[in-house]
Amino acid sequence: MSPVDPSPITYRILLSDAEIRARGLDPSAPVTCNCHFDEGHEATCDLVAAHAYRARCKTLAPGVWIDPDGELHFAIPDILAYLDLPDTPAHREGATATLRAMLAELAPHTKVIERP
Ligand SMILES: [Zn+2]
Repeated sequence: MSPVDPSPITYRILLSDAEIRARGLDPSAPVTCNCHFDEGHEATCDLVAAHAYRARCKTLAPGVWIDPDGELHFAIPDILAYLDLPDTPAHREGATATLRAMLAELAPHTKVIERP
């Protein structure tokens, strides 16, 4: 197993936009421990919440998962990494356009939310 988590849970994934703003967090930052760690993480620790979230998600493919609410997620950087493509603006745009077109054809009533 890679020592670096290839697809860490970020605050964008874990928290609502309002919570991220209220706490002044970087939405693209991986979730970190924010408790008074002593002999174990506290139940309110962000890291505990991230692990719990991940345990309730179903991974479908690298960079593709269904969250506990049944929402489908695509992480473009993870998909590019899986395909051995450099993470460039052009590749991100190409992958995003491909996914957008695929969803429009396969699931035209799907609400697509794109987050940078
Ligand atoms: Zn902690």
